Amino acid sequence: MPPPIVHHPAYTADIPAEHRFPMQKYRRLAEILVADGLAPAGFVVPEPASAAELALAHDRDYVDAVLALAVPPAIEREIGLPMNETVVRRARAATGGTILAARLALSHGLATNTAGGSHHARSDQGAGFCTFNDVAVAIRVLMAEGRIGTALVVDCDVHQGDGTAEIFLGDANVTTLSLHAEKNYPVRKRQSTIDIGLADRTEDRAYLAALDEILAPLLDRMHPDIVFYNAGVDPHADDRLGRLSLSDAGLAERDRVVIEAVRGRSIPLAGVIGGGYGADVEPIARRHALLHHAAAAFAG
Ligand SMILES: [Zn+2]
Repeated sequence: MPPPIVHHPAYTADIPAEHRFPMQKYRRLAEILVADGLAPAGFVVPEPASAAELALAHDRDYVDAVLALAVPPAIEREIGLPMNETVVRRARAATGGTILAARLALSHGLATNTAGGSHHARSDQGAGFCTFNDVAVAIRVLMAEGRIGTALVVDCDVHQGDGTAEIFLGDANVTTLSLHAEKNYPVRKRQSTIDIGLADRTEDRAYLAALDEILAPLLDRMHPDIVFYNAGVDPHADDRLGRLSLSDAGLAERDRVVIEAVRGRSIPLAGVIGGGYGADVEPIARRHALLHHAAAAFAG
C-alpha cells in the first residue's frame, strides 16, 4: 500500500475564476492521484482545525477574526484571497490535513497532504495566500500532546518561509530550514535557523548540491522526532512566481533526495505541497503529484 494521502474537497475554495491563485489545482491534483493509483483505498479525510488548535501557533484575536469572517481589509489584502466562508473553511481543512498527515507520519513513517505549506502566515496574521500556518499549528499540536519533542521544517518552496521562521524564532526545539530564491517574495525575510538564499535562475544541479550539502549533516546532528517537508513546486523554471530554473526531473529528484534522507534515518516525514503558480493548472497539479509519487516510490 502506498503511504496515506490526506485530502479534503474543501481544499478547493470558491474564488473568482480569473484570480491569480490557481485554486483548481487542488481538485485536479486529487484527480491525478486517483488516476495514478496512489490512493487505492481512497484519501484520508481530515477534520477542520479547531480554534484552540489554531491558537497554538497564532494570536487568538487573529484566529477569532478569521473564523468570524472579520479580518481587517489591510490583512485581507496581504493574504491576497477574498476571506469568504469557503476560503476560511479551506484554511481550517488544510491545517487539519497537515495535523492528520503528521499523525499518520508518526504511525506509518510517511504521509502526505494534498494542500498545506502556508508558510507566510505569521503568529499575528496571514500573508501571501496563506491564512493559517498549517505546519506550525501541527508542530504545536503534537508538542502539546507530548507526541514529539523536536521538529525540523525542510521548506523547499521557492519563497522564504518567513511566517514559520517568525513563529519558531527562539524555540530551540524547532529547527527551520528554508531553501529559497533570495530575491523573491517576501521582501523582508525573517531569520530561519538556516536560510539558503539562491541566485535567480539556479538550475537543478546547483539546487540539488545546495540541498545535499545541508540536509544530511543537519539530520545527523539533530535527529528530529519528525520532519515537515514543504515540497513547493514554484522553483520550477515555468512557474509564474518563481525565479529559479528547476525542471520537472529536478523537482522529482529533490523530493526523492529529501524523502530518502529523512526516511533512511527512520525519521517520520509529513509532506505538504506548498506553492505552484501559473494560468494553466494542469502542469502545476502534475508537478505537485511528484511529491506523492516520490513518497509512494520510497514506500515501495
Ligand atoms: Zn511559494
